[in-house]
Amino acid sequence: MKIIMLGAPGAGKGTQAKQIAEKYKIPHISTGDIFRANIKNGTELGKKAKTFMDQGLLVPDELVVDLVVDRVRQEDCTNGYVLDGFPRTIPQAEALDAALEAIGEKIDYAINVEVPDENIVRRMSGRRACVACGATYHLVHIPPKAEGICDKCGKELILRDDDKPETVEKRLNVYHEQTQPLINYYTDKKVLVEVDGTVDMADVFAAIVKILGE
Ligand code: ADP
Ligand code: ADP
Ligand code: ZN
Repeated sequence: MKIIMLGAPGAGKGTQAKQIAEKYKIPHISTGDIFRANIKNGTELGKKAKTFMDQGLLVPDELVVDLVVDRVRQEDCTNGYVLDGFPRTIPQAEALDAALEAIGEKIDYAINVEVPDENIVRRMSGRRACVACGATYHLVHIPPKAEGICDKCGKELILRDDDKPETVEKRLNVYHEQTQPLINYYTDKKVLVEVDGTVDMADVFAAIVKILGE
């Protein structure tokens, strides 16, 4: 099963993608996580990506596409994968489709997690991410057991720099301009499905399972 998660920053793509990956036993591929790992490790890619990420801008397509195309060709992706945060532009989607077509494959579902802009800023300011394992929490909706500490690995939880309100607003604009057109793109490909992302995270997941099958 090859799945793409679509939705505004903070819509809950990562939260749902992790559960999908676990239930259907497919890898969760998050381009944001890949960039953050590269930044942490001080790689060239990380240095380049950081300048864009800090400003709330997208990393240029040429830095993202090959990375993902190489990743989905790896052994563990033969039964499918869930892509989270990619594609984010029409050229990225076209490049992915071309790469898949070349090996006789295609995307099965593009799941659009719908959350109105008003909810997003609130969600992002409450998001806390683990510095070590990347687990995400929400101060109000999905709190960790102990304040500021990751349930999974015991390390520190932080507010991502790009989750500060001024950057979130910028990212939302970028989303509407560059990423939202993908909804029409995948509608035309007849793989778009939509779920309401404003309900409890368990209910969002139940709606997704209803679509993907038990
Ligand atoms: P969120 O989950 O909040 O939407 P991500 O973790 O997916 O954020 O992405 C963080 C940042 O990484 C983005 O704002 C962007 O700068 C960069 N990024 C991630 N994926 C892509 C992509 N496919 N194309 C361009 N930039 C990306
Ligand atoms: P994205 O990957 O789309 O940027 P995340 O999965 O990181 O979004 O979720 C953004 C924030 O909202 C996180 O703090 C997360 O814990 C929280 N969150 C995710 N899903 C829900 C939900 N259904 N209801 C309330 N908060 C949620
Ligand atoms: Zn952790």
